[in-house]
Amino acid sequence: MSTGIFSPAVKNIDKIIILLEKQYPDALETSLGHRDAFQLLVATILAAQSTDKLVNKVTPGLFRKYKTIHDFADADPEELEQDIRTTGFFRNKTKNIMGAARALVKDFNGEVPGNMEDLISLPGVGRKTANVVLGDCFKKPVIIVDTHMKRISHHIGLTLNTNPDKIEFDLKKIVPDAKQTVFSHKIVAHGRTICIARRPKCIICPILKYCKYGQENA
Ligand code: SF4
Repeated sequence: MSTGIFSPAVKNIDKIIILLEKQYPDALETSLGHRDAFQLLVATILAAQSTDKLVNKVTPGLFRKYKTIHDFADADPEELEQDIRTTGFFRNKTKNIMGAARALVKDFNGEVPGNMEDLISLPGVGRKTANVVLGDCFKKPVIIVDTHMKRISHHIGLTLNTNPDKIEFDLKKIVPDAKQTVFSHKIVAHGRTICIARRPKCIICPILKYCKYGQENA
């Protein structure tokens, strides 16, 4: 993994964003299916150590069966475990989903709060999950540090940090507010198609000339 801040990348962040927007015009929001903030919260908890594809196979049936926050809060844990089993780590995820639903009913009037502090007070909800919900459902400017953002922000040379919270704060200083959420989604698309973990396709990458790793390795 390439390390070190790469000043051409920082200086040209606006150009990088424009190039990514052109390359991935359809990557406008999370690929996790949802109809409201609570469903997205559940889907994002399920997506931990799993894939969006796998989660999207489970959630349509899950949300037909458990229609409200109360349905999740009052669920039979063993039944819910079986309902989400294929996403992996299903015991822990059941605990987190039911814990979050119960806390929302008890402390937040059954509504998903639209701020970081309250969201991360919920069981199983870290900054990444909170940022997904805040960005897509509350239209707040967020940097979502998932595995793609972690890897690619290092490759490009936008951060020296490996801790996701520190990466988030580094990128929030570099990426303009109005572009933060969209940048997060474009980076996921980039990580899935061109800047692939084991073999980034630098030669066809639209941001090659601004990328530290690309300049050193392509
Ligand atoms: S140049 Fe290579 S390492 Fe840099 S972002 Fe593009 S694909 Fe990834």
